Amino acid sequence: MNHEIRREYPDYTMTSGPCTVSPSVLQALSNPAVYHYDPVFMEKFKDTCEKLKKVLFTENDVFVIQGDAVLALEASANSCIKPGDKCLNLASGYYGKGYVDYINAFGGIPIEIEVPYDSAVTVDLVEKAIEENPDIKILSMVHSETPSCTVNPVKEICQLAQKHGIITIVDSVSGVGSCEVKVDEFGIDICIVGSQKCLGAAPGLSIVSVSDAAWEKMRDKNPRRWSVLCMLDWKEMWFEKGNFPFTASVNLMYGLDQAVDEVLDEGMEHLWSRHDLCARMAREGLKAMGFELWAVSEDICATCSTAFKLPEGVDQLKFRYHLRDRYGVMISAGLQAHADKLLRLGHMGYTARPEFVMAALAAIGKSFADFGIEADLSAGLVSAAAIME
Ligand SMILES: *Cc1c(COP(=O)(O)O)cnc(C)c1O
Repeated sequence: MNHEIRREYPDYTMTSGPCTVSPSVLQALSNPAVYHYDPVFMEKFKDTCEKLKKVLFTENDVFVIQGDAVLALEASANSCIKPGDKCLNLASGYYGKGYVDYINAFGGIPIEIEVPYDSAVTVDLVEKAIEENPDIKILSMVHSETPSCTVNPVKEICQLAQKHGIITIVDSVSGVGSCEVKVDEFGIDICIVGSQKCLGAAPGLSIVSVSDAAWEKMRDKNPRRWSVLCMLDWKEMWFEKGNFPFTASVNLMYGLDQAVDEVLDEGMEHLWSRHDLCARMAREGLKAMGFELWAVSEDICATCSTAFKLPEGVDQLKFRYHLRDRYGVMISAGLQAHADKLLRLGHMGYTARPEFVMAALAAIGKSFADFGIEADLSAGLVSAAAIME
């Protein structure tokens, strides 16, 4: 107990993103930092985007913005939302709620559906809102609400919106890779994905797909060009002329390309089922140890990350630093008002592996014991292992 380990880096980064990446992704990041117009890089960038179409099951234009996902989310609003546009925004958590600020900032008229942050938005609620507001132009939603580890029924909601000619903007930053997302079949006009979540790349890039209808909406809005918040720059400069709007993040792209190769080699179905298996292991393990899951029901639990209630009397920061320093596992707390209410164990991308989940569960159970909290570690590990395939 008094053997203090000082770790420069944790062995297992299993937060709600970024997460530990594969050794080969790490290695790819160190390829030469060439000019972004070097033919080698131009080819690579095009090739990565083509492969990402397979990841997203789409024929829509796909590109990669140099910036983390919140930049792409704000860019989607800046590019599409015209003053006076009615925008239906779904909020079942912090990222969903946050989008309303963009709607307001760009002059849209928000119509909000908000549910408690341990729940999901239902298709019925969306149907009712569309019936009451037939002039809705845009629907914005989060697919996998990572701060509370819950998912919304993205397929049913986007298909419904598409029937009504509504442009759909989906934050699937942590959804893609963790479960089935088929952009064209689901009717997602703008899909935004983070590099550092379930695709297993380093942080700093946003993958974006844009449908023809969404490009049309952007032309109609006519946003100011030559801006990191202008997605239309990508259409007019990259797709039409082969010029990058700005400098591409060369080394991060190498890492993303490697990560995409790995997920396509594995196969998307296998990637989804690996995330599902790890999420079930995490849930069964935590419940058997005596913890309570955050979500109101397990059918809305995300497969990228698992949230459980923080036991009374535990300081989340002290606990997480102890877990990290002594056992080498870094996990996340909740966001904002939920910071002291829940903990989140990420199992994304490379870390969505049964052996990682077993190691994390063992470390979590032991850490709680160190904090004087009764946790049935053996029951937790047996329950998790029982569903290992
Ligand atoms: C991680 C995440 C974001 C923010 O991504 P950044 O890369 O931190 O900008 C947005 N939405 C969801 C659902 C996320 O999981």
